[in-house]
Amino acid sequence: MLSVGHDVRILAIRVVWALGLLASALLLDERSVSGVRWHIAFQSVLASLSFFGLVRVTGATSSPYNAFFPFLPLILALGYPRDASAITISGLLCGLGAAGLQLADGHPWSKAVLWAGLTATTTLIGAYGSSQFRQALRAESEARLERGRREAMESLAISERRRAQSEKLATIGRLAAGVIHEINNPVAYIRANLDFLEREVLAHPHPSREELAEVFGETRAGLERVRQIIADLRGFSRMDAEGPTACSLADVVGDAVRIARLRLEHVARVEVEVPKELPPVLAVHRRLAQVLLNLLVNAGDALDGRVGSEVRVTGGREGSRVLLRVEDNGPGFPPEVLPRLFESFFTTKGPEKGTGLGLALSRELVEQFGGSLVAENREEGGARLRLEFPVYEGAE
Ligand code: ADP
Repeated sequence: MLSVGHDVRILAIRVVWALGLLASALLLDERSVSGVRWHIAFQSVLASLSFFGLVRVTGATSSPYNAFFPFLPLILALGYPRDASAITISGLLCGLGAAGLQLADGHPWSKAVLWAGLTATTTLIGAYGSSQFRQALRAESEARLERGRREAMESLAISERRRAQSEKLATIGRLAAGVIHEINNPVAYIRANLDFLEREVLAHPHPSREELAEVFGETRAGLERVRQIIADLRGFSRMDAEGPTACSLADVVGDAVRIARLRLEHVARVEVEVPKELPPVLAVHRRLAQVLLNLLVNAGDALDGRVGSEVRVTGGREGSRVLLRVEDNGPGFPPEVLPRLFESFFTTKGPEKGTGLGLALSRELVEQFGGSLVAENREEGGARLRLEFPVYEGAE
């Protein structure tokens, strides 16, 4: 029969154990890594010592709890699988406790060693299991991180493409007046020619062959001009996710200038000196054309309404770099504007005309291809935008 004092001791051990658990849980700061470590270590020590006390007061080696010594480390490993200290501490304390009780109760050394060995074995099994669990957790969190990183990169690429696309559409919007004018002209004379043909063919059974040939030629040229404008704009506005390839700057400039003429035709004289033989650069052709078009349309805006306006695009090689310059003889950049040119949404043109994204986006695109874009004022007056790219070695 167990005495009252004995019951009180059991109760006291349980109360101390429970209070320890409660205090540690209340004081735990889950955001602090070392705080969590201390909490787990404390719980392991508290559980092992309380359990040892329980076994001791309920009959030591003959206690019904004694057989559970080897399993306490396993239980703690299940409770705290993320930290190896739980099983290490409880394994050590339970092994020592189980062996110590055997010796204290007068059992031979071999029995003490057997209990210590038993506890060590379950501790090792628990340690192995929890380390596997931690490894699986690590692998899962790495996979989650990698997935998150990939998703972030993909959504960044999509938003970059969208931004480039909306700036592109804004540029096309700025070209709209030029497009209407350029298409209106050939359409007007195609119509006049058709009227003439109708009149001539119906009125004269044998109209002049030379006159007819001239009218047909003119009509075809007009239609060709309209077709070219549509093809250029369609090509420019397409939104394909293309990878970089070896690009000829002469071709890129040629394409951009052809579209920019829609804006520049009646504003400035455009001169292009970009040798065909320049080494290629690694870039996305359409993106580079977008950059050039931005710079040319900006030049057109700066030159609008001035007389004797000129835009020059020149290219050359300097060592392992290829250079492009887009210059105009307009007003240039005022000193207070120059440091802010490449800021997103910085514009001096007012919200209806400018987006303030052209230069920021152009610099970003150029840098994506390993190049640089800088703006300066020319000594003789006017603006100069300098682009530099590394020569594409793969092509040499
Ligand atoms: P936006 O053209 O929509 O204003 P940008 O980023 O292309 O945006 O240009 C920013 C500012 O840089 C323009 O508002 C203008 O003040 C100035 N700028 C750009 N190109 C020229 C140029 N060739 N000459 C003078 N100022 C220019």
